[in-house]
Amino acid sequence: MSVDILVFDGDGIGPEIMCSTIAIIELLNAKLKLNINLKKEILGFELLKQKGVTFTDDLLLKSKEADGIILGPVDHNDYPSVSRGGINPSAKFRIELDLYSNIRPAKNYINVKSLSQNMDLVIVRENTEGFYADRNMYDGNGEFSPVPGIGLSLRKITKEASLKIAESAFEIALSRSVNKNISKVHVIHKANVMKITDGIFLDACRHISSKYNDVDYEEMLVDACAAHLVRKPEQFDVILTTNMFGDILSDLATELSGSLGLAGSLNAGKKYAMAQAQHGAAPDIAKKNIANPISLILSSAMLFDWLGKKRKLDKLILASNLINKSVLELLKHKENLTRDLGGKASTTKTTDNLINILNNLI
Ligand code: ATP
Repeated sequence: MSVDILVFDGDGIGPEIMCSTIAIIELLNAKLKLNINLKKEILGFELLKQKGVTFTDDLLLKSKEADGIILGPVDHNDYPSVSRGGINPSAKFRIELDLYSNIRPAKNYINVKSLSQNMDLVIVRENTEGFYADRNMYDGNGEFSPVPGIGLSLRKITKEASLKIAESAFEIALSRSVNKNISKVHVIHKANVMKITDGIFLDACRHISSKYNDVDYEEMLVDACAAHLVRKPEQFDVILTTNMFGDILSDLATELSGSLGLAGSLNAGKKYAMAQAQHGAAPDIAKKNIANPISLILSSAMLFDWLGKKRKLDKLILASNLINKSVLELLKHKENLTRDLGGKASTTKTTDNLINILNNLI
């Protein structure tokens, strides 16, 4: 059975880090006979140049036919308005494919300088509603200005989406408990201020928690969580939270643990999944061969693990484990580190070194 994966370079550093990711996948594909078909499509600024839009419905159709997606970073902040073709591909995929769960691990690596110690956690962030104005309305936009100088922003929290994301977080906590001595979900909220919306969210989390007796449960305010991530990160295993809190806390956690450039991420629903680095398109370092490709490579490993478990394809799970193992080995040596990690290695050099390590592991 073949595994069709749709890949998009994206913007900024996207083409460089996707090139590294494809090299790793092709090596694993050849060595482990994974039967992966990679198909590349264009979106973002490149598509805007060719067709006057950054995203098309045709791409959505193609992604629904694929087994998985790897999306390079998109620089949607710099896109023109929607009426001039600037559609955010990341939001489109997340909504249209119902990728409601954004899974964002953050952990310390031996020899990688970091502000935190003993961090090994996963942030599970709701992906389809919350404060995100482009996705929380059936029609129209969740942010608007009734008169000049006044802006209003709506936050949508539903019982249905909260139950789904809570289930996803508890399942992740269970699966992590195999290798860890803690199994705990921290639910992060601001129910002291947003009593109704975070009240609905907390009710849903408590309901799901009651079905998972083997997973500990704790609630924490989002401001306290930010402080605790700095002070005592080892207390966290799985952090379950709403869309915007999850976005902010995951940047904090990954930077504390080393660099955004190491932060893999998966967007998953019941049917589809999309690997996507936690970081953005980083236009400040694009085309310089200095970007760290590890985040996108680890994101792809997360996709392989998800697909392997879903389709019962053990070889894909093996490929995912091999990527994680080779990255651990890579980061042990200073000469392999890119600039964001305090080293001097280029994107291509880091990739070549990772390929050598993988070749020795297989
Ligand atoms: P977005 O809002 O789309 O997530 P952003 O504005 O938060 O994007 P990023 O593009 O993630 O910003 O970049 C933040 C900083 O981190 C920049 O200085 C960038 O150069 C750096 N950075 C991001 N990704 C990487 C990477 N893979 N390798 C090295 N540095 C990176």
